[in-house]
Amino acid sequence: MGILAKKPCAICGVEVGLTGQVKLADGNYICRKVCQKKAMHGYDFMHGNLPALQEHIAQVERDTETFKKFLWKAKPKSKFKQIGGLRVYEDLGLIARVSIGKKFFIFVSYVDKACIYRIADLYAYEYDQGSKSSFDLQSKTSKSESLHFCHYYFWDTPGLSDFAVRISKKGDQVTVEKYFNKLYGIEKTLRNIGNTWKNQINAVKAAGSAVKAAATGSDDLEEKAGAAADAMERAQYGDRSVWKARADATLAAWGVKWPGV
Ligand SMILES: [Zn+2]
Repeated sequence: MGILAKKPCAICGVEVGLTGQVKLADGNYICRKVCQKKAMHGYDFMHGNLPALQEHIAQVERDTETFKKFLWKAKPKSKFKQIGGLRVYEDLGLIARVSIGKKFFIFVSYVDKACIYRIADLYAYEYDQGSKSSFDLQSKTSKSESLHFCHYYFWDTPGLSDFAVRISKKGDQVTVEKYFNKLYGIEKTLRNIGNTWKNQINAVKAAGSAVKAAATGSDDLEEKAGAAADAMERAQYGDRSVWKARADATLAAWGVKWPGV
């Protein structure tokens, strides 16, 4: 029976028995001992396929290297804000999700894994709720505990671009949303309403001129429609150009080729 249950790991090829396998959604198996550990903590193997996992592993290898080289022990120390489980480097236009390990009785910490993202590509940061049930032996009752997550979604990012990070309480999400909304200039407060309003007006104007171009059979329709879409996007997601420029400058200075589109 034991021999029948053995499957080759789709990544490293090692034969693994039932307890050492992780099954992916596409029917592939990977080994628990080595290849499962190559993915970021919390990676959703159950819903992932092999090409997506391989892309993620490549991302972790590349970004861990980059993080160690330019951010971990860099001098002068790069400043970041720890927010919603991520490190946000505003000056560099980048975000890092890092898993830090400890060794020698927790006196020494090291970078276990890192994934690097561009601030410009973050398009969603939403609250997610989960739960964990446990059985209490003493009272012989099972209880359910709420878990809170912030769900992030990055555009144009090969590898893991859609993930949830655990936050300690629901209220932390308010901080995350406020912070990123402000970063992208989409904060709907009195102080910022002028800016939001201006973006909305520009969106409406650009859409109007695209409609006019369509009606008159003008041949710059495509260009105008593109401008309209850009303006609409800015009104909804904020203006990302400054963040894109910062990330481009940082990556160019580091000599790191960004794999995104
Ligand atoms: Zn393996």
